Amino acid sequence: MELTELNYECIKCGTCCHEIFGSKKRIPIYPKEANKLIEIAKKKGIAFKIIEDLVFPDILNKKILVVTYKIRLDNETQGCPFYDKRNGCTVQEIKPLACKAYPLALKQVDAFNFQISIDPLCNYVIRYYDFLKNADFNNIKKIFRDEYPKALEHLKKNKKIMLKIKKLEYKNKIQISRKIMLDDFNKYLNEWEREEITTN
Ligand code: SF4
Ligand code: SF4
Repeated sequence: MELTELNYECIKCGTCCHEIFGSKKRIPIYPKEANKLIEIAKKKGIAFKIIEDLVFPDILNKKILVVTYKIRLDNETQGCPFYDKRNGCTVQEIKPLACKAYPLALKQVDAFNFQISIDPLCNYVIRYYDFLKNADFNNIKKIFRDEYPKALEHLKKNKKIMLKIKKLEYKNKIQISRKIMLDDFNKYLNEWEREEITTN
């Protein structure tokens, strides 16, 4: 088989909705997505919690700027609370962009920049890893034809938020600390107020 013959099809193993091989599963969700999931969880009577994910300390206003949250996994199943063993994802219509794009994900390359990458923990990716490890962006677009536009949407949204943060900095409305000691950061996380950074 050739790399160009690959055509991604999810094998519906559910692995990506659970903690994988002991590594903490990270399903990043934007604040508006989090609100929708909280609302639907309430209606369905599902215990649903979110944890802060990508945050920046604004040392000028003493605030923690929240870009994304992540879904807190169920203690018992170590999976997303919206995952059902028989039916898979039960919130298909409003599932977060990160889930729609998977196994494509955003990889952080530095503090403010991300790029599209293939998550190596997906079982389809594991099966065809020897081919996929050589994939360039043209291959990725073709192989993950439905997921690539979602990953691109995810990346654009992310870029927009990063740009918003940089503009606020440029206007001296915030100041993001570039070098911060872990102890200080933990102190700020405990003491400072939160502000969500969103886009339309
Ligand atoms: S929202 Fe759906 S697709 Fe996303 S992790 Fe939860 S169950 Fe899986
Ligand atoms: S791990 Fe990959 S193949 Fe399995 S359900 Fe998730 S996306 Fe589909």
